[in-house]
Amino acid sequence: MSEFKLTTVEEFEAATERLLETGAKVGADAWQFRVKNQTPHCKFGEQGICCRICAMGPCRITPKAPRGVCGCDAHGIVGRNFLKFTAGGAATHSDHGREICHTLYCAKEGGNYQVKDPEKLLRIAKEWGVETEGKDIYDLAHEMAELGLMEYGKPFGYQRFLDRMPAGQKEKLIENEIAPRAIDREVASSLHMTHMGCSSLPEALVRQSLRSGLSDGWGGSMMGTEFSDVLFGTPKPIETEANLGVMNLLPLPALDGGRLVFLIIEAIRKKPINREIEGRIHFAGLMALMVLMVVVMYNDILKIF
Ligand code: SF4
Repeated sequence: MSEFKLTTVEEFEAATERLLETGAKVGADAWQFRVKNQTPHCKFGEQGICCRICAMGPCRITPKAPRGVCGCDAHGIVGRNFLKFTAGGAATHSDHGREICHTLYCAKEGGNYQVKDPEKLLRIAKEWGVETEGKDIYDLAHEMAELGLMEYGKPFGYQRFLDRMPAGQKEKLIENEIAPRAIDREVASSLHMTHMGCSSLPEALVRQSLRSGLSDGWGGSMMGTEFSDVLFGTPKPIETEANLGVMNLLPLPALDGGRLVFLIIEAIRKKPINREIEGRIHFAGLMALMVLMVVVMYNDILKIF
């Protein structure tokens, strides 16, 4: 196996820069362009000291007005905004995990969704203390899916996957009151705490942000990942001989190699090529590459079935 090499931040940035240049040629929009139109940013928003949680607002903190109408100060407002972001993120990712649990529950032999990695399902079942002996793999899948769904709304206990943590970590989380309980409960508690007239203590708000985030990382997202592997097969690294750097230099429109061809032509003619014509050629090249990708993907999918 060839030596494993991590991509550096500089390499990522250079690749992004090339992607943006190519995108700009075909008129593609990107957040890097949109962000320029949004500057200068609102200073209150940037610092998190504006609040529009209730109809008495919106309020913003200034030296003249150090508290919102409800009496909440800058620390409380920043804490509530931060917790709202975290709860929104936890809900988003965890709900994806919930859909995966539902899909696992619907999986059946010969159906649209099947168990592709039964060994992994057995491993997780043992981890969760579920009896596997003599069970049909689909009965087990349905039982595990139901248990997974219960992780969203169970009235007692912490997230099951916390037992995967290194020794002593789960106990530390419990001791510090940030061990995640049911996922929906953490999201609902967060929305409750951030509402007007509830919590404005920054320590409590930050603690709940941690608990809410952990309910996703060690709950919803982890179930989404693990059960996706059960349904679609666990991905395995495949060694490739293809050198992407060299491929990028192929003289094809939309690739750097294509741009190089235009630069050489310009150098020979000693005058620039019409940018609009060049853009059209790159666009056509990009479309051709997209069609090629779809054909290759279709071919790969056919091979699976
Ligand atoms: S919750 Fe308080 S700070 Fe926020 S908008 Fe309402 S009154 Fe203003």
